[in-house]
Amino acid sequence: MLLSNSNFQRLPQAALSRSRFLRLGAGALLPYAGLRLSAAAAPNPELAQNNGASGTKDPVASGRMGAILVSRVGPVKIHSYLSPLDGFHVNTQMIEGPTAVVIFDGQLLLPYADEVASYVQTLGKPVERIILSHAHTDHWSGLQVLSERFPDARVFALDGIADQLRARGQARLDSFRPIYGDRIATKVTVPTETITEGVQRIDGITYDFKRFVDAEADLQLAALLPEQKVLMAFDLVFSPNEHAFTVVDHFDHWMIVLEQLKVLQGYDTITIGHDTPVNRSAIDSTIVYVKRAKEIHAASADAKTYSESLKAAFPDRQQAGWVDFSARLLYAARR
Ligand SMILES: [Zn+2]
Repeated sequence: MLLSNSNFQRLPQAALSRSRFLRLGAGALLPYAGLRLSAAAAPNPELAQNNGASGTKDPVASGRMGAILVSRVGPVKIHSYLSPLDGFHVNTQMIEGPTAVVIFDGQLLLPYADEVASYVQTLGKPVERIILSHAHTDHWSGLQVLSERFPDARVFALDGIADQLRARGQARLDSFRPIYGDRIATKVTVPTETITEGVQRIDGITYDFKRFVDAEADLQLAALLPEQKVLMAFDLVFSPNEHAFTVVDHFDHWMIVLEQLKVLQGYDTITIGHDTPVNRSAIDSTIVYVKRAKEIHAASADAKTYSESLKAAFPDRQQAGWVDFSARLLYAARR
């Protein structure tokens, strides 16, 4: 199962503007020929031979708000749901194996989680489990919907995540409610199962789960698909096109974690927590970003200064609002 046969497809550089991409994505499953990856998308000589390899039309696509990208790698299909911007462009990854689906992350806003659930149902396979990558609200609020729609699917996370959600989850939801109203979860969905580090097979697919601390989040799962050579990095790696979230002062250790990811050989397709998949160069561009953010944080006495300086340092990155959001949390924690 070589990745080179069938990977996320990309269009020629700059074929689609981001807004055009998102408009397209709003109503359509994007087959291989219709994907636009981030600027760091892996150049892959075989992709050109692969246009249209997945032409399946999505029967429920009309009216969908989020975008879905599909990649087939051997017997495995990776379906990525990318939320609209008001849901922070957060991804839910659905790994479809021979007999079941494994869902990673649950969206911020309930209507988008509902779209994920409806899409999964069109695959016609049971949800084997739901796995939460880390305890940031944009990744778990919508688990409320997924656990209602798939009551037999147990919710897994690394040891420690459930405690974080029990301790702080409700306060996080309450902080989002003035902005999102009833689109945010009413209750915290606490994982009931612990995912252990290391290699395991689920529905015939090999996963290598890794645990990282003190990076973008205090505790973060990453998942390798060694046979498909896909790295699911979640919020350890960000798109070169968008700002990263820097909500806690873990800059130094986050850079160490990124160096550890760089050592993983052969993983040229990286799915990330926000925005479309990237290639290895996004690890380097994330290091550059985190390093600069660290310097700016050290030199900035308040959130406003931090935010303005970071935006000025990376004027080409989109989602400047994420910098303001990060700065508020980063400097609130300092008090
Ligand atoms: Zn996130």
